[in-house]
Amino acid sequence: MAVMCGPLQARPSPAVFLDKDGTLLEDVPYNVDPARIALAPGAGDGLRLLAATGLPLIVVSNQPGVALGYFPEHALDGVAQRLGELFALHGATLGGFYFCPHAPAADGSLHCACRKPGDGMLRQAAAAHGLALEGSWMIGDILNDVEAGRRAGCQTILIANGNETRWQPGPLRVPDYIVGRFDEAAAIVIAQQARHLTHVSYVSPASPAPAASSAASAQHLRAVA
Ligand SMILES: [Mg+2]
Ligand SMILES: [Zn+2]
Repeated sequence: MAVMCGPLQARPSPAVFLDKDGTLLEDVPYNVDPARIALAPGAGDGLRLLAATGLPLIVVSNQPGVALGYFPEHALDGVAQRLGELFALHGATLGGFYFCPHAPAADGSLHCACRKPGDGMLRQAAAAHGLALEGSWMIGDILNDVEAGRRAGCQTILIANGNETRWQPGPLRVPDYIVGRFDEAAAIVIAQQARHLTHVSYVSPASPAPAASSAASAQHLRAVA
């Protein structure tokens, strides 16, 4: 599929930003023991699907346990290493692990720019890796993930697996898609990437439409011509 987007290769790539606890992993509060890290249902299959998109996969995680004194920041090194192993086991590459070590104020207000629902981690990753936030995705299990993604200009997918309990509304807290499991979220990214690549192939003079294009593709060609 990469050959179809040749003209775009010089542009910054979008990415898929992934929340960690309750999204990618079973939620074990404040856990930093690699032995207790386990993928959430559908996450292994989902990682395999996301790897096929070729998009960088970046984990962005609130880790207030550092500021609260539950564990030292360097304990997250083992978490990152185990995450990398789990990605590799499923044919994927961990493109980055960003965490916010700060805690919110007692009233819930933010002390930093990185803690979700802020978008600081996404912007930091985008700057470090040369990523295009527009066209990127944020996948998470609570509305703070959705808000962080929306603030950064990403498309957002909420995995509604019961972890969001407050459902605090807001204009930035409306996900583009709602699914039940990680692999369903990955399937949406795949489908939307395929649409994008199809679009690029037909508008690029260097990539003529395949002779045996489907009726749906032909219709799409007329739409963009
Ligand atoms: Mg979570
Ligand atoms: Zn922070």
